[in-house]
Amino acid sequence: MVHDNFDREHLWHPYTSTHNPLPTYKVREAHGAVLTLDDGRELIDGMSSWWCVIHGYNNPVLNEAAKRQIDRMSHVMFGGLTHEPAIELGKLLLEILPPSMEHIFYADSGSVATEVAMKMAVQAHDNPRKTNFATIRSGYHGDTWNAMSVCDPVTGMHGAFGPALPIRHFAPAPQCGFHDEWDPADFEPMRELIRSNADNLAAVILEPIVQGAGGMRFYHPQYLRELRKECDANGVLLIFDEIATGFGRTGKLFAWEHAGVEPDIMLIGKAITGGYMTFSAVATNARTAEMISNSQSGVMMHGPTFMGNPLACAVAVASTRLLLSLPWQKRIGEIEAIMKERLAPARGFSNVDDVRVLGGIGVVQLKEDVNLGEFQKRCVEEGVWIRPFGKNAYIMPPYMAVSDEQVIKLCDALLKLVRPE
Ligand SMILES: *Cc1c(COP(=O)(O)O)cnc(C)c1O
Repeated sequence: MVHDNFDREHLWHPYTSTHNPLPTYKVREAHGAVLTLDDGRELIDGMSSWWCVIHGYNNPVLNEAAKRQIDRMSHVMFGGLTHEPAIELGKLLLEILPPSMEHIFYADSGSVATEVAMKMAVQAHDNPRKTNFATIRSGYHGDTWNAMSVCDPVTGMHGAFGPALPIRHFAPAPQCGFHDEWDPADFEPMRELIRSNADNLAAVILEPIVQGAGGMRFYHPQYLRELRKECDANGVLLIFDEIATGFGRTGKLFAWEHAGVEPDIMLIGKAITGGYMTFSAVATNARTAEMISNSQSGVMMHGPTFMGNPLACAVAVASTRLLLSLPWQKRIGEIEAIMKERLAPARGFSNVDDVRVLGGIGVVQLKEDVNLGEFQKRCVEEGVWIRPFGKNAYIMPPYMAVSDEQVIKLCDALLKLVRPE
């Protein structure tokens, strides 16, 4: 195995200890859906680099957009200045976001977008009592302070930071699955929570339809329809975090489309630049923007140094245009069908709790946590890159770059890796 001692001794990787960290694998380059390690071994990428590399690595269209923009300017401040890539991206996003979205705030990462959305909700109410948030368990909204506070309290970071985090209201995670028959009882705990806390709630924040890093769960669209009604009836804003679900991952361009209800504030990130660089956006409807602008401060109080970064905007425009120019929905449907068929046998494994597939997401949920170090070592031996968390072993391939054969290889490798001895 190739790994560099400097990395092991001095670099922190996500969620690791400096004591005896798990091995890392050094990537030399990546093309399409394949990662090439330093020693020349090739791995089919089943993770889209945490769900963002939708067009594959080294995509010629995205490369060209980045190079063209670099030769003009990589960055210019957004305070008092503007530029064509930001305007072009804004126009493009307003064409594809929910129709009621009218105002866009560019931010640096998904977590920052969550912070911005939560600040917006507090500012919009302009009421010192309406400053708290409700959410559902098993959610994930990022690693910054307020984002952590609305992540699942068990699988999230409440364990490490508990008393330091603001206390939020948690409803149980929806139990009614995406394909199940709707059970009205599923929404009742959230209804009760909103009604009894309407006076202190600024907003409800959640991931529509697919809960990602908090549990890889797919829930029923009716939940969101009920939630929209209840928020409206109680003067509570609704925030959809589509950072993971955006740009086609669930089979719709954005997951709200499964339910047909629009949020007041919507977050997008991850795949927005095709995985080229960090970037996110927070969109609001006119009413929310109006409430913020009518508040005592009168302005949205956030303005990151790299806001509206031209390089990221230019690549985001290229990535989004490319996606829309391709039969993305058909392709994701084909990948979904392959994963459904190929992952199904895992339902018969004694150590498997559930197998579920939606759009470009295939999940094998195990009964016990995966031994990550061992799993990854065997993954690399199989020529694939899959990184489970907790009990969830899943694949989210770069859907616009991966071939049928590569999806099959990912599914077969996943089954081989989870199959009990
Ligand atoms: C990844 C993710 C975030 C955080 O985004 P970062 O860019 O990692 O800060 C927030 N919400 C959801 C739903 C995500 O999947």
